[in-house]
Amino acid sequence: MPNMKPNKNPMPSQDPKVRAHNFDEVALGYSEETALDEAQRCLNCKNKPCVSGCPVNINIPEFIQKITNHDFEGAYMTISEDSTLPAVCGRVCPQETQCEARCVRGIKGEPVGIGRLERYVADRHNSQSSEKFIPASPNGHKVAVVGSGPSGLTCAGDLARKGYKVTVFEALHTAGGVLVYGIPEFRLPKSIVQKEVDNLKEMGVDVETNMVIGKTLTVDELFEMGYEAVFIGSGAGLPMFLDIPGESYKGVYSANEFLTRSNLMKSYLDDPTTPIMKGGRVAVIGGGNVAMDAARTALRLGAEKVTIVYRRSETELPARREEVEHAKEEGVEFKFLTNPVEILGYHNPDDRRDPKNGFVTGMKCIRMELGEPDERGRRRPIPVPDSEFEIEVDTIIVALGTLPNPLIKSTTKGLDVNSRGGIIVEETTGATSKEGVYAGGDAVTGAATVISAMGAGKVAAKAIDEYLSK
Ligand code: FAD
Ligand code: SF4
Ligand code: SF4
Repeated sequence: MPNMKPNKNPMPSQDPKVRAHNFDEVALGYSEETALDEAQRCLNCKNKPCVSGCPVNINIPEFIQKITNHDFEGAYMTISEDSTLPAVCGRVCPQETQCEARCVRGIKGEPVGIGRLERYVADRHNSQSSEKFIPASPNGHKVAVVGSGPSGLTCAGDLARKGYKVTVFEALHTAGGVLVYGIPEFRLPKSIVQKEVDNLKEMGVDVETNMVIGKTLTVDELFEMGYEAVFIGSGAGLPMFLDIPGESYKGVYSANEFLTRSNLMKSYLDDPTTPIMKGGRVAVIGGGNVAMDAARTALRLGAEKVTIVYRRSETELPARREEVEHAKEEGVEFKFLTNPVEILGYHNPDDRRDPKNGFVTGMKCIRMELGEPDERGRRRPIPVPDSEFEIEVDTIIVALGTLPNPLIKSTTKGLDVNSRGGIIVEETTGATSKEGVYAGGDAVTGAATVISAMGAGKVAAKAIDEYLSK
């Protein structure tokens, strides 16, 4: 008999007052007993509506049934048929708009906690398994992968399993893409990502860091070096700014820079090699998941007060509800219907460290109200006349979104991109306008999700295999 409890088993979490001051993971994961109880809420629906909500179509009822039979390793194998990063996706997938949004249990109550179960199965496998990957027999073909985010790692893994000699070229000094430089440790421990990268290396994939393709080597030079196909998974790391006076003052960061300094350069340590603000009053501009991550990171770095400034109302916040709730519980404040118009600063001509730009001291904002819906159905924010006011802040983090970096396009002949800089590909193969070059993930779509980037890496790996097997 299924368990007809209307609500999901809650996720055990660190106390908000404690976790607001540490970088340990917030969500602690299900116990075996809770996982079994949650798995029993699944009705094993014949038409599997949840599967169509998962971008890589994991056989969800099958893996959940295996959990109810205590076959945890079997459940892991079922998930692994379609996903190479289950411990990551179980943590960071926006399940509420994907698999869980289609779960029939969600009609009269809460959906089955599919993501939580996926995380349980993957963590259990990772803590108990000592499997060694045996590299596949070489098939004699060489493929280059640009970028080591979820799209690149997935494409590399799928090709290595088929015997391709794959080299991943990564611009930063650590592999993992946004999983290591963007998503904070308290949501996704870096050891999990490192394990995925280590698995790839065991399969025979070479990972070359500090290699900026388009600068250190061009895509055309990769072909000259003997690579027969290239996958571009270079993400969307170019931050957008407000374009208002004062944005060049010291103390204004893009969310990307702020999170990279904290996550990748470990600037939260007492003696960091990369400095970052610690303490003071922080304003984060934007209302997406990246804004929530930046605000919660600022709190953990010791900010006295962190305020998210968003130009629409709470209803329109694009961030996941769970992340907004977590941020509130930890003490992040929100200023809705507010838009910055100028960043205010202090300039001291006698200070040698302050030759030109000065330091942030505050922000001039204007109140907004909501007008008619825009083309995406969200009500447009409109400034309220004569409603300007000032707030005092020491640090401003701009989290307005990112675009694909134009470097690879500008150095690769014959690679077509769209008006937002996304590489144009054939949807079913990831093939670009340039022979032998494939692309996927945020470099194509603009900022999206881990699982969609992973799915694109899989599609391209299959197409590259067909292309090189001709
Ligand atoms: P990326 O992960 O961006 O990886 C691209 C890699 O390519 C990077 O390592 C970059 O250094 C490298 N690179 C770039 N240019 C070059 C070059 N010229 N040469 C060599 N290497 C290069 N998604 C979710 O599903 N859930 C979440 O909770 C979530 N939270 C997020 C939080 C933050 C702060 C951010 C920024 C994003 C978040 N996302 C989340 C989005 C998700 O992480 C991305 O959609 C996903 O990582 C995209 O994968 P990718 O492989 O396309 O690119
Ligand atoms: Fe759901 Fe993401 Fe797992 Fe797919 S990969 S089943 S969307 S949690
Ligand atoms: Fe189980 Fe929900 Fe999927 Fe039905 S829709 S099989 S109840 S997870």
